[in-house]
This record gives sequence, C-alpha cells and structure tokens, in this order.
Amino acid sequence: MIYFDNSATTFPSDRVREAVNNMMKDEFSGNPGSLHKLGVAADKAYNDTRISVAGLLGASDSEIIFTSCATESANTAIRGYMSRNKRAGNRIISTRTEHKASLECLSLLEKSGYDVVYLPVEKDGKPVLSELEKALSGEKTALLCFTLVNNETGSILPLEEIISVRNKISPDTKIYLDAVQALGKMPVDLHKMNVDMCSFSGHKIHSLKGTGVLYLKNGTRIDPLILGGGQQGNMRSGTQSLLLAKVFEVALEEALETMDASHKNAEEINGYLRKELEARNAKILSPDDALPYVLNVSFDGFESETMLHCLEIYDIFVSTVSACSSKAKKVSYVLLESGVDRKTAANAVRLSFSRYNTMEEAQDFIKAVDDIYDRYAVLR
Ligand code: PLP
Repeated sequence: MIYFDNSATTFPSDRVREAVNNMMKDEFSGNPGSLHKLGVAADKAYNDTRISVAGLLGASDSEIIFTSCATESANTAIRGYMSRNKRAGNRIISTRTEHKASLECLSLLEKSGYDVVYLPVEKDGKPVLSELEKALSGEKTALLCFTLVNNETGSILPLEEIISVRNKISPDTKIYLDAVQALGKMPVDLHKMNVDMCSFSGHKIHSLKGTGVLYLKNGTRIDPLILGGGQQGNMRSGTQSLLLAKVFEVALEEALETMDASHKNAEEINGYLRKELEARNAKILSPDDALPYVLNVSFDGFESETMLHCLEIYDIFVSTVSACSSKAKKVSYVLLESGVDRKTAANAVRLSFSRYNTMEEAQDFIKAVDDIYDRYAVLR
C-alpha cells in the first residue's frame, strides 16, 4: 500500500499504539474528578500531560484545553470568543479558503448579524495584505481567522506580516489560527507566534482520532461550547480522557523529535514528484513555497475522482478535495478561490505525505501514473 493521504488522516505510530495499551491499566482508569486515590492519580497524570503538551507547543499549561478534534477547537474558539466579547466589534476578517471547521462557524455568525469580511487570496493562496489593511481600517474588528498551512495546497500563511498589520492598525483585534496541518511539520511556538487562539488535531500527527487541542492565550475570554461539570477550568466540560490526552502528547513528542528529518524526506519526495509529474503534462497547483507535505496536482484528461479510483487499483491512496467534503463530489473551493480554472480544479488530486513515506513509493507512484495513462487514457 502507498498511503499519500496523510492530510486527511494518519495512522497511529507504534509509540502511540504502545501508549494505548499502557493506558488501559486500571491505575490510569480513574475519573480525574474523583476524590479517592485513583482519581487523584488520574488527575495528576492528566495535568502532567497538559504541562508536557504546553511545553512542546511553547505555551503555559493554563492555556491548553484538550478537545475531541480540531473542529471542536475551532468552534469553541471562534463562536466562544464572539459570544463572550460582544463589545470587541462586529467584524471578523478571514478568507474563503479556510477549512469548513472555521467557515461554517463564520457562516453561522454571519446569520446572527456579524459582518464577516473574506479577503481575496493571491494565486499562491496567501491573503491579499493590502485588503487586510483596508478591512482593519474600517469597522472595529473583533477577530482575524486564518489557517497556517492550507490542507489542500500546503500554502503557508504569512503570519508575521499579518500580525504586524494587525499591530499597526488594530492591536486589540484577536487572532484565531488553525495550525492543524502545520503541527509537527514546521516550528510551532505559540508564545513566539503571538496568536490568541489556535487549534490542533491529533489524528494528523499519527495519534488517534478523537484527540484535539485548543490553545487559549491567558487573558483571552471565551464562552465554553460544552457546558457541564466544569472540567478543564470550565472551558470544556466532560470527564477528561487521560488516554486521549496522553496519546496526543506521545504523538506530538515523536513528531517534534523527527521533524527535521521528516521535512527533508517530504522535500525530496515532493521535489521528485513535481518534476516527474510536470514532465507528464500534469499541472502542479500547490505554490512553489508550499509546505512540502502537500502536493496538489491536476492530471490532464482525468477527473479527480477517476484518477483517485484508478490509483486505488494499484493500492495507492490519495484525496480529491479535502476528505470531509469529498463525498459531496464538489470541485475544490480552495482551488477556485485561488484562481485555478474550473476544468483544471476538476482534475485535481491531493497527495499528502508523512514521515513514513519513502522515495521508493514516490517512484512506484510515477510508474502507476504511467500505467494508468497507457491503459485507461483511451477510455476516459
Ligand atoms: N483544519 C484543517 C486545516 C484540517 O485539515 C482539518 C482536517 O482535515 C481540520 C481543521 C479539522 O480537523 P479534525 O478532523 O480534527 O476536526
């Protein structure tokens, strides 16, 4: 099997699998809210895990909330901030190339009367900064909402430039950042990055599905999305899962340990595939300076889904548009927003890599593409 769909999800690493087994022990199975010694031990282990995750992310432990996924983190941050801070302004600035986890929150807020300004993006997927300046200079803006690495193209946000524009024009405007596809693949140091809220997902870094994190900078007030027993400082009620927090920590630790070697490996695979695919008249849609873990490519004469299923015959797995919306058979809104014409976008396939992929797999992928053109091009 060649799994080039790591932006959709990754498989749990061996270390994560081991940690799952270990956490099945009775001694880790108490309720962190219980007063007896099993509860106290679970509570301590949970807090130790939070401290460790905070350290790995360059944050303080009081700023880390464990969630079920990045979608929950996004909903908690965006909706929670706007609900709690009614006087911060009526405007939110974002782009239409965000993940649906953000876009659907923004759409809901628009329906309840907020003014959401969607900045245009350049061909490389980066927001047009002069438009950001203009939008920030108008009505009072409560929140900026951006993605550090786009999940469909790998386009990297110019975060420092955005923050400097924000600081110059509207320093009170808060920043929510989706860092799901950046985690473990480029440095993420939250205090240095100077964002106010940030979301992460464990299943993109070889942890389990069901694990997410929300970073909430100290002093940023939000209304919690999930109410109940007041766990996690009242920010996310529900009995804490020590298992899920722990496997997020284990996966993050491993991702950071292997980050440099993994980046080099992804660069090699990406560079090779770009060259070979372009030689076969495929169009590379990821920008040149994209994170090398994502390669969006449009195959001449093959619709996205046809190519996906052809590759599947060779036990090769890729995505069309982002996995959560791919069943709807739509052309990628991210590509269309970035100025790609509909025909090219309709043939786009996303290859996404992890540290487990090899150059050999990349070579086999090219052989499969050649074979597909030889066998099926006449039928298409
Ligand atoms: N943001 C981005 C950029 C993503 O790629 C994804 C998942 O595809 C999400 C958010 C949502 O993550 P989760 O599946 O953890 O809810």
